Amino acid sequence: MKINKAYKFRLEPNVEQEVILNNLVGSARFVWNQILAISFEMFAQNKHINAVNLVKKITALKKNPQFSFLDGNSNAVSLQQKVRDLASAWGKFFNPKEHARLKEKKRKPKKPKFFKLADGTEVQLRPLMPRFKKKSDGYDSIRLVQFDKYCWVKGNKLKLPNGVGVIKFRKSQEILGTIKNVTISKVSGRWYVSFCTETELTEMPIHPSKSAIGVDLGVKKLITTSNGQVFDPINSFKTNQIKLARLQRKQRKKVKFSQNWKKLNFKINKLHHHIANIRHDYLQKITTTLSKNHAMIAVEDLKVANMSKSASGTIENQGKNVKAKSGLNKSILDQGWGMLVSMLEYKQQWRGGLLVKVDPKYTSQTCCECGHVAKENRQTQAKFECVGCGYVANADLNASRNILSAGHAVLSVEGGCGKGRPKKQKASEIREEVA
Ligand SMILES: [Zn+2]
Repeated sequence: MKINKAYKFRLEPNVEQEVILNNLVGSARFVWNQILAISFEMFAQNKHINAVNLVKKITALKKNPQFSFLDGNSNAVSLQQKVRDLASAWGKFFNPKEHARLKEKKRKPKKPKFFKLADGTEVQLRPLMPRFKKKSDGYDSIRLVQFDKYCWVKGNKLKLPNGVGVIKFRKSQEILGTIKNVTISKVSGRWYVSFCTETELTEMPIHPSKSAIGVDLGVKKLITTSNGQVFDPINSFKTNQIKLARLQRKQRKKVKFSQNWKKLNFKINKLHHHIANIRHDYLQKITTTLSKNHAMIAVEDLKVANMSKSASGTIENQGKNVKAKSGLNKSILDQGWGMLVSMLEYKQQWRGGLLVKVDPKYTSQTCCECGHVAKENRQTQAKFECVGCGYVANADLNASRNILSAGHAVLSVEGGCGKGRPKKQKASEIREEVA
């Protein structure tokens, strides 16, 4: 079995190196935008868009005397990777499943935007279509594949091509496995390096624990486990959200792309990044704890759960003023829940444990003692009281117990723990101490 892991560290380029890196990520962004414009033309002409077609366009772009700066300021491999990413972004757009998923989220329709083609006609930028990258997005990156051909890592030093030379990084953890590729990214003015590694396991790991739990994901309580453990949502999250909203309000009053607008934009991007880091670290800690202690973890299948949770009133019962906020809260939650489950998934695989996804239907209305299913069992958000047997419990705890039994049921149908486990290990990410 092959296991993929990713390690991310803060990169510390000197002034000259930063100039080169800025050119490298800048030219990759430029090529993305140029090829995207070309692919809109292809789209309008009903031409097939795929990686092979798009990568071929790079040569012509480099030959264009207008774009001669690409010579010497770009890395050929990373340009190809960038264009491949663009092709997979188009692949997402052409995939009907992705559109179905988007529809489920029920986002508010935005004012339509258009891209002007060479002949003067316009293409409407539809949802899921790849977008143009702007410097003001605050995020740029390049990816280098076939790492050992022209890069190396020794201690806390990384050798990069294109005259960058040897760069220091804050190595907070040993890098295990063979490095397959490396991504250099610039986020809100800071540089990072991510290594993707591969390790071949000769034996399947065996989880040290025999314990099994059910996990209920919620809004007020992020996690309630079937053995009564509760993990609260992150506290600092709320204050940062208020800060963010304040900055965004301020920015709306400024002239777009003016000096003051740019200053605020940088602050906003930085805060976004900070919030994402806090969430990521917190979820890493929780999922490690759960995965270390339990061989089997049952969760609700989120693809279905997202809908039923909001419909059953979990988010609506948050208090006054919810309507305006619920859109924001929900998007944060969706992201957080999804991330949490995928972390549990790969951590369980590393340790030889199992993550079982169960149908979320009726988990909150079923009595975990007698199995009676009724809407009336759930009188309030917090309290569960069975109208059949009189069993009283915390509603989340009752749900997590149902999730656990559903998990056991899934396993017994599949015929034991061996089956139903995905063979291929998913690439995943460990974010490192980067502050
Ligand atoms: Zn009951």
